[in-house]
Amino acid sequence: MVSGAGPSAAADAPKEPQRGFFGAQGAASAASAGAVAFGQYIEPMLSAPVVAALRAAALALPGTCVVCRDWHPSGVCDACLQRFAPLQPRCGGCARPLPLALPRCGACAAQAIAYRRCIAGADYAAPWDRLITDFKFHRRTDLAGALAQVLQRAVQSAQAEPTPAWPTLLLPVPLARERLRERGYNQAWELARRLGRRLRIATTPALLQRSRDTAHQIGMTRAERERNLRDAFWIEPTERIQLQGRAVALIDDVLTTGATAHAAALALTRAGATAVDVWVVARTPLGGE
Ligand SMILES: [Zn+2]
Ligand SMILES: [Zn+2]
Repeated sequence: MVSGAGPSAAADAPKEPQRGFFGAQGAASAASAGAVAFGQYIEPMLSAPVVAALRAAALALPGTCVVCRDWHPSGVCDACLQRFAPLQPRCGGCARPLPLALPRCGACAAQAIAYRRCIAGADYAAPWDRLITDFKFHRRTDLAGALAQVLQRAVQSAQAEPTPAWPTLLLPVPLARERLRERGYNQAWELARRLGRRLRIATTPALLQRSRDTAHQIGMTRAERERNLRDAFWIEPTERIQLQGRAVALIDDVLTTGATAHAAALALTRAGATAVDVWVVARTPLGGE
């Protein structure tokens, strides 16, 4: 979870058409056209979700890259992927770039990490930071396909390497119930289901459960986060059969300290998964936590 960007980014979220994207004005005029069409009923009805849906419809123009806005069949164009999400060796623990293809960096080699390997599509930096913030906090679920594409590319590159027991089930890092209610969707599930479809791997939205909101972790050290996350994740005993003898992958938008992924992986392993990989769109750079 990108808990670092969480509440503050949500609090700062503009309610109305935002900066930057080609088409934002189109969305704004679509919203005002709606206001005209629905007459006096629009005032109370033009709630944030309605505006967001209109904006998303206007922004999800088929055939443009979400980064450069050049014509492209969908998602992100190859030039932007190569420029902003270069395939490079990363640590299997923290997913930070490594100069050499080593399994883990020195810091991760010295730590007990419950997951087998983390794969990240890109660094959490421009343009992905802005796109992920919009995807997560501004209801831009239309960006899920493009962000899943960034992750898919890294996973497919890793698939070329020999891996014992490739994951056969994708699970989103769950949101606590109150957060899900507030946001209306789990961004990790939006990514997982698209990725599962494209990679032909089974997905399940709610096997892994989250018992309470542990997202307010800004400023906490890894040790403090781990304490905060202890017992936050669980799997219903009757559902554990789905994990037996299976390698699975946990899907999330951003990896920050890795404490959330570690806690979730621990719960999955205890429930019977033979291995847990963590696949994220982006990884915060050093000092970004
Ligand atoms: Zn592009
Ligand atoms: Zn590392």
